[in-house]
Amino acid sequence: MKQKKELIQESGKYLERLLWTIFSRFIRLRDSLLTTGKRNQCKCITCGRVYKSFKYDLQYEIWIEAWHCRDRKVLILKFNKKNVNGQCSLCNHNWWEVEAYKKALDCKYGTGTALELDTIAKEYTQCVGKSNWFKLYKQDLIDMIMGFDNDIQKMTDLWKQSKPIEFLDFF
Ligand SMILES: [Zn+2]
Repeated sequence: MKQKKELIQESGKYLERLLWTIFSRFIRLRDSLLTTGKRNQCKCITCGRVYKSFKYDLQYEIWIEAWHCRDRKVLILKFNKKNVNGQCSLCNHNWWEVEAYKKALDCKYGTGTALELDTIAKEYTQCVGKSNWFKLYKQDLIDMIMGFDNDIQKMTDLWKQSKPIEFLDFF
């Protein structure tokens, strides 16, 4: 992992890609530990089946991906911890599963969560082009990269000590 002063030299596009890589790892690790207690197995938020959380193992045709409930073009939702959850690749490609995903979100984070995310997406769509307050600046991207990288480390430490992650600020 690069240091803060090295990251600031990189382009915004590079930082956004790096942030996605780290964020996706964070989501899959969080939901794996939460649903199975194992680092590499996760229960799909929508169908409830358990799959490997990383696709490198090619013998598995279905795996868990970090999946968005609302459009990832909305940048503030792309890296929103409630909007992105471990979902299997099968459910991801079935657009009709969106309603089931929304129900699962309300179940995981509390009633009204799916609606809350919908509202943010709508507000963004109305404001885009008129205001840049949703824009993520390089410094924001770097802070998020460092933050999620730190959270991955914290979760890994808890896992090594066989401690649950439920009560930490990972959601
Ligand atoms: Zn699924």
